Amino acid sequence: MTAKATHAFATCVWTVMTPSLDLSNRIALVTGASRGIGYFTAKHLAAAGAHVIAVARTVGGLEELDDEIKAAGGQATLVPLDLTDMAGIDRLGGAIHERWGKLDILVANAGMLGVIAPLGHVEAKTFEKVMTVNVTSTWRLIRSVDPLLRFSDAGRAIIVSSSSAHSARAFWGPYAASKAAAETMMRSWADETRNMPLRVNAFDPGATRTAMRAQAVPGENPATLPHPSEIAEKILPLASPDLTRTGEIFQARHDRFVSYRQPE
Ligand code: NDP
Repeated sequence: MTAKATHAFATCVWTVMTPSLDLSNRIALVTGASRGIGYFTAKHLAAAGAHVIAVARTVGGLEELDDEIKAAGGQATLVPLDLTDMAGIDRLGGAIHERWGKLDILVANAGMLGVIAPLGHVEAKTFEKVMTVNVTSTWRLIRSVDPLLRFSDAGRAIIVSSSSAHSARAFWGPYAASKAAAETMMRSWADETRNMPLRVNAFDPGATRTAMRAQAVPGENPATLPHPSEIAEKILPLASPDLTRTGEIFQARHDRFVSYRQPE
């Protein structure tokens, strides 16, 4: 393992564990499970033995996931929910508590891009929707399931972020700002729970072959990008009861954790 300071980060090369992880009897909530990275994260978690609670708006995508999980001998509960429905997120936490009394794994993956445009050209309703889906609903979800994750003997929370939170590239403003906010919440939450079994980290998938990426970079050949199944596999070790790290980001593209330590 090697460590070096870069900019505001300290990086640490980390070898991704083999997918022999046993998540039997563990309950995992995955948002944005109807397609893309969330779909395959849900599928892999179920294959590892977890009971997956799959959240998204598109019922067809959730049903396809359910069919695949069941065909492989796994278990899932489908929750068609628009994450802009904040009371719905509260009810979801209540329903998980009633049925299982705990939550072991949260993958807060659902997200939206909004628009790629100069900040001054972004419509107010687009900016507000990006913030609602990527930030406010993530906070509401944290608030709803934090007590349930504390009931687990090894609660694991993974907030799916993006390198754009740090690169702050031209025209990506609303999305980049929303991901920076989500990461900062993740860090505060990790700090609040540092002395508990709960571990909280962010996951940066890197450019991945999904609908969102095609919307962001329409001229790109999707075949040049990793498949979401490949990227989703790298989320699994962050759900492992053996994980000790908290308050860091795992960068899938580099197979490494990055901490937020200030440079010397
Ligand atoms: P997709 O657009 O393929 O999938 C997004 C998922 O989020 C869908 O399942 C969608 O479900 C769900 N979602 C969006 N809005 C809502 C909503 N209002 N309520 C409920 N669910 C919602 O995106 P990706 O798989 O590419 O992205 C997954 C995550 O990875 C996102 O957080 C994204 O920011 C991040 N990411 C992706 C990168 C990439 O290159 N693909 C790079 C860096 C980060 P439905 O429409 O059915 O509701």
